[in-house]
Amino acid sequence: MSVFSILDQIGTCELHVLFDHATGLRAVVGLHDTRLGPAIGGTRMWQYGSDDEALLDVTRLARAMTAKAALAGLAHGGGKAIIWADPANPPSDRRVLFEAFGRFVDRLGGRYLTCEDSGTSTADMDIVRGVTPHVLGVSADRGGSGDPSPFTALGVRRGIEACAELVLGRASLAGLHVAVQGVGAVGRHLAHELAAAGCRLTITDVNRERATRVAEELGAAVVLPDEIFDVECDLFAPCALGGAVSDATVNRLRCRVVAGAANNQLASREIGRVLHARGIFYAPDYAINAGGLINVAEEFRGYDAERAREKTLAIRETIAEIARRSLRGDGPPAEIADHMVEDRLARAGAQPLPSTAAILASPASSRARGSAV
Ligand code: NAD
Repeated sequence: MSVFSILDQIGTCELHVLFDHATGLRAVVGLHDTRLGPAIGGTRMWQYGSDDEALLDVTRLARAMTAKAALAGLAHGGGKAIIWADPANPPSDRRVLFEAFGRFVDRLGGRYLTCEDSGTSTADMDIVRGVTPHVLGVSADRGGSGDPSPFTALGVRRGIEACAELVLGRASLAGLHVAVQGVGAVGRHLAHELAAAGCRLTITDVNRERATRVAEELGAAVVLPDEIFDVECDLFAPCALGGAVSDATVNRLRCRVVAGAANNQLASREIGRVLHARGIFYAPDYAINAGGLINVAEEFRGYDAERAREKTLAIRETIAEIARRSLRGDGPPAEIADHMVEDRLARAGAQPLPSTAAILASPASSRARGSAV
């Protein structure tokens, strides 16, 4: 597949490619849309099988970040970086590699802000911070925002509140039966949030010990991983890997709402239509799971946990708007969310862009970067 046919599938996307002989660093930055502001998105390190696989991954992920940032009301566009390497066996010393990567990011002049993703860590981002200010998700003593998962879980709980009110006609979460798939970093926090709000929980995890521990903490019922799709409940919350709702599982679901933290919950766009036809409301993952992104984006202007929390609480209104439109017959929720993204981008396109240079020169931003640069 040619580079341009890959880009043709994604829509507009700008690619920056680096092969650094000295370090063996092979990296690509994809900038999908910067109408709302500098692109934001993590750096994934992965041993790709081919150029196509790497380019498709970075462009698709960059596009998803545009949607997530736009729906979260952030003054950021969507971008993503990939480093083509085995995370357990990188081509050179991690410090050398991430310094080279940081210089690459720096040359983009602030149009792309990186942070961690699978295969990279806060420690890697601290190395990047040593050579460029255009990195978020650094450690707390460098102005970092810390673990994103409690914020992601908070946003999902708020989205579930909107679903309960508008789709299930309930004034509160008390008595709601929620089936949670995956009780790792986000799923466990979410289970705690829901239990505190009076929900009845059925949980599962491929890690049995983890499932048992969370069940004991909360008095939840536990089922085997494959049984979670058959649980008769009000709401199914996928918080494990992508593709939970697929051809194989969509007709097994016995809930009225799907709303969880996992990225790419629907195996395909068509699955969203099947859910819709079955009368199951799907809270689009990139709308409901933006709490972690909101939190890390706060570092850009000087991290303030309370402001991150306030913005995360607003996810309830985003999901409510999608639900209202879907319930009045505008179509499947993911398609409505896509229209909302397009509207926000089109409106931003008609306005002057916020100046990255001006934001970075602000006192709050300098404070956040002070210890590192
Ligand atoms: P995690 O690895 O900490 O937790 C995932 C859990 O799911 C693990 O306990 C794992 O054992 C379990 N699991 C995996 N496959 C399973 C299966 N088939 N059935 C049942 N359990 C299974 O990851 P996380 O950080 O909690 O993220 C969960 C999901 O949310 C991921 O899709 C991630 O991309 C997405 N997400 C996370 C954040 C965040 O802040 N961490 C933000 C946005 C989106």
